[in-house]
Amino acid sequence: MGDVCGDGHYDPKMTRRGALAVAAAAAMTPWRGLAWAADPPKPGMTPPPNAIAPGDALKRLLEGNERYVKNELRERDFSAGRAARAQAQYPFAAILSCADSRVAPELAFDEGPGQLFVVRVAGNFVNPDLLASLEYGVQFLGVPFILVLGHTKCGAVDAAIKVLKSKAVLPGHLPGLVGAIKPAVIAAEKTRSGDLLDNAIAENVREQVARLKAAAPIVQKFYADKKIDIAGGVYDLASGKIVLV
Ligand SMILES: [Zn+2]
Repeated sequence: MGDVCGDGHYDPKMTRRGALAVAAAAAMTPWRGLAWAADPPKPGMTPPPNAIAPGDALKRLLEGNERYVKNELRERDFSAGRAARAQAQYPFAAILSCADSRVAPELAFDEGPGQLFVVRVAGNFVNPDLLASLEYGVQFLGVPFILVLGHTKCGAVDAAIKVLKSKAVLPGHLPGLVGAIKPAVIAAEKTRSGDLLDNAIAENVREQVARLKAAAPIVQKFYADKKIDIAGGVYDLASGKIVLV
């Protein structure tokens, strides 16, 4: 007795046992068509294109940013790799970026589709959903490097400063967002030199990097095993340059 597939076509091969096997396989690979890219390739197998050393991934990001700053972006044919990208993705870095419209990771690193696994939230902080996305990138896509990317003049960090200073109450769900950034502002307030907003932006990036390094069970283990590296940077809106912090 067969089942009816999701698209309404009868498939005699899809028995209940077959459906269970598919469900079990899906549990192992939560998104369809994925290999365990993070595992070392078996002898004779070609390693996936993103199986590079974490340090090389960072170098590639910084070189791309240098091209962006100089406005010397590589020419790209977006349609060329479309068919291959439809089959699989091999991003070489994950970026936890602010949602700010002026910060565009693919442009800032001069990379095309399929190269960066980008998760974004205003204030670029780690929450359970974003962490789960990064876990997926690391474990199932074999991403060797995570960069937390803050930026100058960040409105979310600025809002957290204002809320702390004036005890203002923000509408909607914004208090939750600001609450996630508050610890970085409190730490930055202890710094005597420099601008509070700049210090809080850098501190927030450093705190999120530290949180990711300790984020058990997946990211922490990959980091401890030196399969991945995690760093932070701040994007300067005025110059486009990313400086590691
Ligand atoms: Zn921002």
